[in-house]
This record gives sequence, C-alpha cells and structure tokens, in this order.
Amino acid sequence: MSEIPSLEQLHALGAAQQPTYDDPAAVAAAVARLRTMPPLVFAGECDDLKAKIAAASRGEAFILQGGDCAETFVGATADNVRNKLRVLLQMAVVLTYAASVPVVKVGRLAGQYAKPRSSDKETRQVDGESVTLPAYRGDAVNGFDFTPESRRPDPQRLLEVYHASASTLNLVRAFTTGGYADLRQVHTWNSEFVRNSPVGQHYEAMASEIDRALTFMQAIGAGDPDEFHRVDFYSSHEALLLEYEHAMTRIDSRTENPYNVSGHMVWIGERTRQLDGAHVEYFSHISNPIGCKLGPTATADDALALAAKLNPTNEPGRLTFITRFGAERIRDGLPHLVEKVTAEGVDVAWVCDAMHGNTFETSNGYKTRRFEDVLDEVQGFFDVHRALGTIPAGILVENTGDDVTEIIGGGEELDELGLAHRYESVVDPRLNRVQSLELAFLVAEMLRRA
Ligand code: PEP
Ligand code: MN
Repeated sequence: MSEIPSLEQLHALGAAQQPTYDDPAAVAAAVARLRTMPPLVFAGECDDLKAKIAAASRGEAFILQGGDCAETFVGATADNVRNKLRVLLQMAVVLTYAASVPVVKVGRLAGQYAKPRSSDKETRQVDGESVTLPAYRGDAVNGFDFTPESRRPDPQRLLEVYHASASTLNLVRAFTTGGYADLRQVHTWNSEFVRNSPVGQHYEAMASEIDRALTFMQAIGAGDPDEFHRVDFYSSHEALLLEYEHAMTRIDSRTENPYNVSGHMVWIGERTRQLDGAHVEYFSHISNPIGCKLGPTATADDALALAAKLNPTNEPGRLTFITRFGAERIRDGLPHLVEKVTAEGVDVAWVCDAMHGNTFETSNGYKTRRFEDVLDEVQGFFDVHRALGTIPAGILVENTGDDVTEIIGGGEELDELGLAHRYESVVDPRLNRVQSLELAFLVAEMLRRA
C-alpha cells in the first residue's frame, strides 16, 4: 500500500455524492478534530475479518451482512442496538446449522450514517406550496426533517457520527463478549420464535434439529464453553463521505499500512464505483477488507478493472463483490460477471445484496420491497453459482430487530396498506424481526438443498 492521497488530491478526482458545505473552515475544524480521535477498530481485527472473508470465498464460511440502510443518531439507543444484534445472531445460528460452516457476522452498523441519493434536491408540497430543499443524505450530513435548517449540511455531524459509532460499537462488544450472545441463549430465542409466532411454526423441524445438535454437543462435552459464550461480530458501512473516511484513516503501527479505523469492513456504493473516481482511488490505498457494489449496469470488464485497481495482488478476502441485480435480472445478469472474473483467476468473495435491486414505490407513496423478491434473488444467486461451480460467499440484507412494517409479503402477509402502520426507515425499507428470521430459515432450507 502506498501513502494515501490527501483530501485535496481525492477531491480533485471528482467525488460523487458529496455534500455541499457552506462553511469550509467548519469542515476543516471537524476533520482536524476527527484526526485526533482514537480508532474505533484495530487493524488486526480487520485482518481477522479479511481471513474469514477469504474462507467464505472458498466455501469454508458464509457471510451474513445486515442492519439498517441508514442508522440515525436518535436510533443509536441500547434497545435498538440490542434488538438488531439479537436478530442477526439468531439468523446466524440458523444459517450456521444449515451451511455447516461458520457464519461471518458483519453488521451494517456503528458507522452507516451517510447515504448516496439519486437527486441532490427534494421537492415537497408544504401548505399548498412547492418547496425545494437539499435531499437528506443521512444523519452524517443533515437532518431528515424537511426544513431549511435541518437540511443544511452541517460538518459538526461528522463528529456526532464518530461518537454514535463509538457508543454503538462499545455496546456490541459488550454484548458479544459479555455473555449476552451465548449460543444457547440465541437458540432459545429462536425456539421462542418457532413456538410463539404463526410464521415461526413452519420452521419447527429445523429448530428442533438444532436443539438436538446442541444437546448432543453438550452431552459429549464438545465445543469450548468459551466459544459458545462469545461471538465475533464486525462492523461495516459505506465509506461515502471523504472528509470522515480520510480523517479516520491511520497508519497501522504493526505493518505501516493505512487502515480505515472507523469500521472493520467498508464498501463502495453503486453510485461511487467510477474507476477513476475519488472513492475507488481512496479504497485502493487502505488495507481493510473492502466491498464494491455491482448493479445491473456493471460489465465484466468493469468488474475486472475494479479488481485490478482495488486488489492488484489478488489477496484473498480483500475484495468482496456485492451484487445487487434484482430478482428479475440476477439469473441473466450475474453469470457473465462471475464467469469472466473467475476465468481471469481473480480472487473475490461474491455476496448477494438481495435488497437494492428490488425497491419500488407503492401507489400510497412508500418505498418498499417484496419479501418474495428478496428470497427469489437469493435463490437466483445460489442457482447461478451452482450452475457455474463457483462459491456463493454470503448475503447482505437491510433489516432491523423491531416490528416495523416496511417490506410487503412474507408469512405475515403485510400488504401495501399495512406499510403505514410502523414505517420508520429514513431511507430504504428493512426486513422486520419476523421477516428476518423467516428469511434465515428459508435461506437455510436453500443451503441444505444445495
Ligand atoms: C445501500 O447499501 O444502502 C445502498 C445505497 O446500496 P447501493 O449502493 O447498492 O445502491
Ligand atoms: Mn439501502
């Protein structure tokens, strides 16, 4: 890794999706302050995650990446973080059993505060008048409320991202190492879901198999009690705002390589993956495991060029391609990419983002997705990899541990009208707690069939 370019050099490359701040001195002050803050993650942990992603790319592990589309500062509460963590751990246990390999747990949390938007401005009717304001770009940039004060990009928010991420990650570390995430405990939650919810009942058979497996392991004294008691959990976010990400980049004292120490894994979004753009340049200099989204417009040559730039040494686990084609296009679109990348000997982990190609707006104005499309995209992803003899390394979902109503369908048969009941996401719709568990059991069934 060479020395990382300055912020000015990066901006000179043309950075997409950046806020327009009106006070450059305040931006510089926030960046200077961030540069003095302690790292949120240790480079060695990033390397551990990289090794696990490498294992997933060989089929020796499976990645579960999940969490909010956009975290919010008010949402960084103990209840919220606990519920999110709990549902991800529950999903992971089911997937571990079905895949018979370790599940690498990566949260979209403790840093997922900046959002790319399709438009710079948003227009709404307010008291019969048409009002246009800057689009909401995530709590890292501005407020969700539709007022000029709230929508003004405020660089002070970058410091708030740091503090909210630090407290979230602290709680996650406490939960995952302090006993809350004990495997038997997590399995008990799953048993409760199966026993107490109409949707859960369908998965009784698998839950009791897991039950028997755990009882058996306990009976024969297998499984290090310590291993049962704690889990590894990693943080990830889209590294979108150059000011924040650059300020949180540090030289690792062990290796002298630069790492982004604001999260274990960071990814490049679909809208910022221009080969000669600032984001790809920045990512090419850090040593974290990184992701790059690939949507239906990505060609195999794009993928190859990105891999050459982002992982020139072909280091295993370094690069994850997170594909987001949509259920309708994955079976036609994905094979060509995977085939060519594989034929060139490029080492990547393929992860299926089953959300972002399946978003649409309902007639009553809600951004939503169909549960069935999410499931179908995962099935398509497995089908494509099976046909090619390549490895499906994991899935990415947007979800929450709460009983929100943002995605239609699934066993609870939420319909368009039901969305109004509890729609809380500030950007993209998330699977709720029941839908997340249901998806985990259904994907587990797919894995076992495979
Ligand atoms: C996201 O992951 O929330 C996102 C914006 O995805 P994409 O860049 O693939 O559109
Ligand atoms: Mn999203």
